[in-house]
Amino acid sequence: LPKRYKGTKESVWTEYIQLAIDYKPLNLGQGFPDYPPPQYVMDALAKASTQSDYMLHQYTRGFGHPRLVSAIAKLYSKLIGREINEKSEVITTIGAYEALFSAIMGHTEVGDEVIIIEPFYDCYEPMVRYAGGIPRFIPLRLKNVEGRLPTSADWVLDKDELEGLFNEKTKSIIINTPNNPLGKVFTEEELTHIANLCKKWNTLCISDEVYEWIVYEPNKHIRIASLPDMWERTITIGSAGKTFSVTGWKVGWAYCPANLMRNLQMIHQNSVYTGVTPIQEAVAIGFELEMERLGSEECFFVSLPKELESKRDYMAKFLLDVGMKPTIPEGGYFMLADWTPLESKVDLSSEKDKEKDYKFTKWMTKNIGFQGIPPSAFYNESHKNLGENFVRYCFIKKDENLKQAADILQKWK
Ligand code: PMP
Ligand code: GLN
Repeated sequence: LPKRYKGTKESVWTEYIQLAIDYKPLNLGQGFPDYPPPQYVMDALAKASTQSDYMLHQYTRGFGHPRLVSAIAKLYSKLIGREINEKSEVITTIGAYEALFSAIMGHTEVGDEVIIIEPFYDCYEPMVRYAGGIPRFIPLRLKNVEGRLPTSADWVLDKDELEGLFNEKTKSIIINTPNNPLGKVFTEEELTHIANLCKKWNTLCISDEVYEWIVYEPNKHIRIASLPDMWERTITIGSAGKTFSVTGWKVGWAYCPANLMRNLQMIHQNSVYTGVTPIQEAVAIGFELEMERLGSEECFFVSLPKELESKRDYMAKFLLDVGMKPTIPEGGYFMLADWTPLESKVDLSSEKDKEKDYKFTKWMTKNIGFQGIPPSAFYNESHKNLGENFVRYCFIKKDENLKQAADILQKWK
């Protein structure tokens, strides 16, 4: 590996997807639904890929398929309350991954500092390092919740600690709301505090909002780009994989002012160049339909979180029943649970990993046939201990498979 990539390790996904292939556990690890997306979403792709319009099978516009950037601009103009230009202020990418990569690569000078909130989606750190940036970490910490179950709202930033990280070298801060793996939905007050620091220190905000539609009542998703004077310093990132339950389609996007977008366009143009045409066409059809029924019962962006809420509650209950201590997520489709009350039931000495949560999740996969993700993967090296007592489970799964999960744990207990 070239020197500048030194220290890159195999990611938790590479490792745990192989583990799932090898041991065939009930898989609540990697985040994806184990049931089909809405019929009309599949139909849209079938239609897009069987049209005789030859252009749907050839390269499309590099910075985004016209029909899709147009739909994205329309939708988010409405949501953030300002006109977004579809040509200069939107880009479509190969998943939110590429949008993150283009944003970080395109806006980080060697030696720039980038603030990352822990637990963080694991690719942020290597992306910042590849760009020559210096990640500065700050953890969300679980407040004392005496006698009740914690929710993701109980995980908070220390305001002074956050303030202390900002300085002249701070180029950007990466936020993720709803957060993966915690499910924390940042409140307006929390986002305003971050926004004020961004303004004070002339800092860019990269806002990963891939779970924007998966928010449970009474919480509200707030787009930091819509807060006062934040549009001009925010790059907002989304994903069709999460929005339409099609993670395998790998379509993502970013929207931001044209002067910031320029940098993303350059990275994209010279690496990926252009996205997949029929899939972008299908996502555009999806957005067009949902925009017509936005906010109504039939709208997928309304029905999806409703459907997931009962799955969330079911999972919280069966984890509690076996003695784990879940944090109830306000958004997203993951749940963190403290597994350490069950420590006497597992033999961690059989696994060689450094972190206890890695040992626990591997032991569970191999011996109980039950897979979760070790949250220390979402912390930097010096904070991995903060994740070790937890496991992350995904609950966007068929009810029968969640029931099976409950049965497996009950039998093992
Ligand atoms: N950000 C977060 C927080 C995620 O959970 C994921 C995983 N889907 C991504 C970005 C990447 O999204 P995509 O699959 O669209 O590349
Ligand atoms: N975002 C999903 C998760 O957190 C998928 C991650 C991946 O496969 N890279 O589980």
